[in-house]
Amino acid sequence: MYPADAEFGFELLVCRWAEESWPPDGERDSAVLVARQLGTKRRRWDTVVVECDPAGLAARAQFGDRTLDSDLLHVVRNAPAEWEWYRDALPHPGYPWRYVRAAVHRAAGRGVVEKRRRGNRIEIRRVAPYPDWVRRIVAVENKPDLDASAARALSDQLERDVETGLADEVWVATAATGRRVEPALLEDVPVEVGILTVSFDPDRTDWATAAVEWHPSDVTPEDAEDDIERATTRLELAERAYGKGWRSFHETMRPDCRHFELRRFGDAFVPHCAAKGRSQTAAECAGSCPDFEPEPPAWRTKGWPIAGGPGKAIRRLLDDRRERVRQRETERAD
Ligand code: SF4
Repeated sequence: MYPADAEFGFELLVCRWAEESWPPDGERDSAVLVARQLGTKRRRWDTVVVECDPAGLAARAQFGDRTLDSDLLHVVRNAPAEWEWYRDALPHPGYPWRYVRAAVHRAAGRGVVEKRRRGNRIEIRRVAPYPDWVRRIVAVENKPDLDASAARALSDQLERDVETGLADEVWVATAATGRRVEPALLEDVPVEVGILTVSFDPDRTDWATAAVEWHPSDVTPEDAEDDIERATTRLELAERAYGKGWRSFHETMRPDCRHFELRRFGDAFVPHCAAKGRSQTAAECAGSCPDFEPEPPAWRTKGWPIAGGPGKAIRRLLDDRRERVRQRETERAD
């Protein structure tokens, strides 16, 4: 049982479950960050779980709560402990220095490095060493209705996930039906991919439960330690997970619509549309929605309950929750 259209509502609940209960087959010994709809140009995963070193995650927090993109990472990771001309301090990026200079200014503007001018040279110094905080990256494909044809349709993508080994572990999460997952269906899913059945009941204290139907194998490539390109891509992914989390659906949906609500479902908040009388999908909750109505300006002057507008309070609530979870995970280091 889940709200919204099958995939979107299911995905939000899987993200919340993972945040609370990851991993599904053992004790949690890492800090955990969860994001959704994250990946590379070629492949986007539904749910991404980043297992982090708790002390590393706490150290990462010194660089603020926003994502460090690849240009900023280049500056921050290589910034020296003592003042130095940025061209001496940073490795050649493989593209013109003027772009690096722009990234240095941006990094200093965000307070993630220090900069000063000496004559016509810009010098930089780090504010702290950038930590090694990412342990493992786990990709989860959400398929609430995993029937034989869905499994066949997924199999090529999953094969590629296993082959490329960008994630360390790959899972398919499906809704529990009370029946056994058919062995014939499992044949279409690569043997390295884990299968998880999850069920949700908002009226129970253990509102989300998950069972491992098939254990995954680690798909980390053998030469992973020497593969700088893979490590860089993974760090960029982890940084995006850090900054974005899974609650950023408010950035693409329309919480500024008077019909937009957040409703509690178990331990999760999910979007609900008062005009449609149901949970709306991310795709339909857009400026093109025929029922869209801007929230009345008078609403914005009141403190507003969670269940209704205005949009700003909803965005703040979701951002605050993301921050609270990040904070809680760093405290595992204490
Ligand atoms: S009416 Fe449309 S835009 Fe407004 S909350 Fe509902 S789905 Fe979103």
